Amino acid sequence: MGEIVDIIIIGAGPAGLSAAVNALVRGKRVRIFSNRDNNLSKAERVDNHLGFYHMTGKELMDKFKEHAEAMGVKIEDGKAVNILPLGDSFMVNVNGQIIESKKVILAMGISKVKELPGEGRLLGNGVSYCSTCDGMLYRGKDAVVWDQSHDAWEEANFLQSIGVNVTFISNKPRHENLSDNVKYIKGRIEEIIGENTVEAVNTGEEIIKTDAVFMLRDAVAPDTLIEGLELDGSFISVNKYMETNIPGLYAAGDITGKPLQLSKAVSEGLIAAQHAALQIDKKES
Ligand SMILES: Cc1cc2nc3c(=O)[nH]c(=O)nc-3n(C[C@H](O)[C@H](O)[C@H](O)COP(=O)(O)OP(=O)(O)OC[C@H]3O[C@@H](n4cnc5c(N)ncnc54)[C@H](O)[C@@H]3O)c2cc1C
Repeated sequence: MGEIVDIIIIGAGPAGLSAAVNALVRGKRVRIFSNRDNNLSKAERVDNHLGFYHMTGKELMDKFKEHAEAMGVKIEDGKAVNILPLGDSFMVNVNGQIIESKKVILAMGISKVKELPGEGRLLGNGVSYCSTCDGMLYRGKDAVVWDQSHDAWEEANFLQSIGVNVTFISNKPRHENLSDNVKYIKGRIEEIIGENTVEAVNTGEEIIKTDAVFMLRDAVAPDTLIEGLELDGSFISVNKYMETNIPGLYAAGDITGKPLQLSKAVSEGLIAAQHAALQIDKKES
């Protein structure tokens, strides 16, 4: 599993990078993971962040990354799929790799995840968000992969390669690299059916029997990432130190609510990192 890190940061947008820089400045060992381009990169022009103006979101984001990397921040490619609090530390599952850390900062931006009927109830009983974590459980069995991310086809191929019988459901045309052995259905999933475990999915056109459903979205809803997390609507509830209701777990940026703006994200990242670093120092002094 490797050495315990001080702070894991999930999301490398403005909030996550600001948290990473500020944690490093305070001498903390940090790992930061992100799984795709962030929202700011889509902005045509940003004029309201002090010190930078007449810039595209991408130019600004490149500056942020350059700054963070120059300070020693290494952005790692990976999607956090589960966080388990263990008293004084956390076990964070990033694409099946388990990493232990003293504190965690959630900086995942706004969550656009709309849960399907049956999804939350059957999570862990056939519904999975991670093929490398749970794939082996379904060797020799049937699984449906729902394509909602740029790399879902790779995960479908992986499941097929370890002996899972995979059906790939996608709104897009069949991906050219999808293995010939994977069955492809054009469409969507409307409902996951099952009493105690997954039994089938409903596409609106047909009912497909299956033992598992891999929901491969880019985003994971915050309250499915970690059990018991207190939300305020679709945002995470935090206090003025950016602490959530779970001790040692922080949230910063768009994920904590309005205004959904860059400067707020950057300052919340700083507050979360400073407070987390201070708590680590207090405990260790
Ligand atoms: C078109 C557009 C224009 C905008 N214009 C402006 C503007 O002019 N001024 C302004 O102040 N704001 C603007 N904004 C808003 C601004 O982009 C956001 O407020 C800011 O990006 C929020 O930063 P964040 O770090 O909280 O989240 P984000 O920038 O959304 O970054 C979150 C990161 O977390 C990653 N992530 C999510 N889930 C996971 C997971 N499970 N595991 C690993 N990584 C994960 C994502 O891939 C993403 O990279 C604009 C937004 C858009 C879309």
